[in-house]
Amino acid sequence: TETLPTKPSWLKVRMPISKEVTRIKETLRRHKLVTVCEEASCPNLGECFNGGTATFMIMGDICTRRCPFCDVAHGRPNALNEDEPRELAEAIAEMRLKYVVITSVDRDDLRDGGAQHFNNCIEEIRKRNPDLEIEVLVPDFRGRMDKAIDIMRQEPPDVFNHNLETVPSLYRRVRPGADYQWSLDLLRRYKEVRPEVLTKSGLMLGVGETDEEVIEVMRDLRAHNVDMLTLGQYMQPSRNHLPVDRWVHPDTFAWFAEKGHEMGFKHVASGPLVRSSYHADKQAHGEKVS
Ligand code: SF4
Ligand code: SF4
Repeated sequence: TETLPTKPSWLKVRMPISKEVTRIKETLRRHKLVTVCEEASCPNLGECFNGGTATFMIMGDICTRRCPFCDVAHGRPNALNEDEPRELAEAIAEMRLKYVVITSVDRDDLRDGGAQHFNNCIEEIRKRNPDLEIEVLVPDFRGRMDKAIDIMRQEPPDVFNHNLETVPSLYRRVRPGADYQWSLDLLRRYKEVRPEVLTKSGLMLGVGETDEEVIEVMRDLRAHNVDMLTLGQYMQPSRNHLPVDRWVHPDTFAWFAEKGHEMGFKHVASGPLVRSSYHADKQAHGEKVS
């Protein structure tokens, strides 16, 4: 059997549990909201909640796809909850968050892939939280790009994020059902219709890619006018998930960041613990996070 390389010291973090974190967790329970932060046991939870950032999962917790790196359940998704946008907006106001990331499972079962529901959430959140910044982390809307872009241009977020996750040679294995060029096109086309909105994408490293392949993807992202980049270490959620291929050294992450800046990204967050939403507020303001 394959043995995993031991987790290096730079991946071990403490999770400060403050009053603020407890308060936010209670509000989440009361409103029955799902965050990626809690679901994925994100190592940055204490830091993010304390700093007023959280990533919410909308449209249920059952996905129509089955990516081998992801811990989300697969199956027939729930019907959309029409009250979700309002409930989410109210909870966010109560939590006094400053920056939220709204993401969803993949909804290949919906005609618009869930685009209108994203809009409804953005609209309701803005109504009740005028100063809050909103990032959406969207699925690929495969097979319905025109429709999704037409809808989503009407209710722009502050940041439009769609993760490529990995390099093209690993797509069949790591992102079954997705298409590398399709995802790049989604980012490019959103930027065309909403040039004032920052576009963003990210990769997890340590699933079998080479450094050269990562650089290639970074070039492709810039060629599709993507403004912001996140690179982080993949960690296996359980023994049944895609195994970790390597632990990328912090120096290598720093080297990618340097390359990214040379290529013209407005912001690069690159480090072992970086997740696409890690210090997302600072990323959006061009501050250093890793
Ligand atoms: Fe949540 Fe993202 Fe922060 Fe992790 S990095 S705690 S998922 S906001
Ligand atoms: Fe997980 Fe997204 Fe893949 Fe669904 S599409 S299995 S939520 S990574």
